[in-house]
Amino acid sequence: MNDAPFHATVRRGRILVVDDQPTNILAAHQILQPEHDVFMATTGEQAIDFCQSTPPDLLLLDVEMPGMNGMQICQQLKQDPATCDIPVIFVTAHQGQEQEIACWEAGAVDFVTKPVTPVTLRKRVNAHLTLKFQADQLRALAFSDGLTGLANRRRFDERLEQAWRHGLRHNHPVSLIMADIDHFKKYNDRYGHSAGDECLRRVAQTLREQLNRSYDLAARFGGEEFACLMPETTLAGATTLAMKMEAAIRELRIEHADSDVAPWVTLSLGVASLMPDVDCRSQRLIEQADGQLYLAKGCGRGCVCAI
Ligand code: GH3
Ligand code: MG
Ligand code: MG
Repeated sequence: MNDAPFHATVRRGRILVVDDQPTNILAAHQILQPEHDVFMATTGEQAIDFCQSTPPDLLLLDVEMPGMNGMQICQQLKQDPATCDIPVIFVTAHQGQEQEIACWEAGAVDFVTKPVTPVTLRKRVNAHLTLKFQADQLRALAFSDGLTGLANRRRFDERLEQAWRHGLRHNHPVSLIMADIDHFKKYNDRYGHSAGDECLRRVAQTLREQLNRSYDLAARFGGEEFACLMPETTLAGATTLAMKMEAAIRELRIEHADSDVAPWVTLSLGVASLMPDVDCRSQRLIEQADGQLYLAKGCGRGCVCAI
């Protein structure tokens, strides 16, 4: 049988095979390895660790396992926002109706029965990988800003809520920098809208480069306004970072002859930090950082104010 079209249409995926029997893993590896990168786990704990640290594109999960069984692993992955989008295909020995229903209820996208027919496994895996890659692309588009490639407002709102909940649980402060380009209307008026767009891209890229922890987030908040979210960061840490950002934008030396701040593009920044608390909504952090940004504008622009 000729499977050539699949080789041509599905890009290589990362598949985690979870089974307590190494021989079953080996069999799945032999079938899938020509087209995909196959990883293995023999316990539920290993599988969850792997998914949290390096999420695979698809999980092939044995139902019957000692310790945590496949259903429990799947349910746990579906409850965590970091792993809930990984499609899970169950490999099941039984074909009883009850178990089929339980597989769907645990959050499976599909199941294959043991002993697996190689071509069926390949086709099922490839079909679900194709859907997964399409969903990844849509998610990336829905959450990023088309001009700068930074996270968009929707993404920012979601991540702020996550950081707030995390801070509340673990007693960590959440910090926020709001940054706004100075006299950007005059920049557009003098240099044109396309030059304005290019300036936004360079500023966005520079801000992103200043953030070096994976859970920090730089987002385009509005027209020429950016928000940098830093979970588990103190006011002092965030203020230091804001000052670095201010300096880095000046150092770009993007000519701005109509600015009264400097002959080049500058940024005003407001910094706030709050300890999440049940009586305080995350919106308060935005209001405070915005208030500081307003002060920075009033203090002559091209500077940082922090509360
Ligand atoms: P301030 O120093 O007080 O912040 O003054 P400003 O001129 O930067 O602020 P204002 O809010 O008056 O003007 C913002 C300008 O940003 C006006 C708008 O045309 C421009 N802008 C917003 N989004 C974009 C965009 O996507 N591309 C370009 N080129 N310009 C944009
Ligand atoms: Mg501005
Ligand atoms: Mg503005």
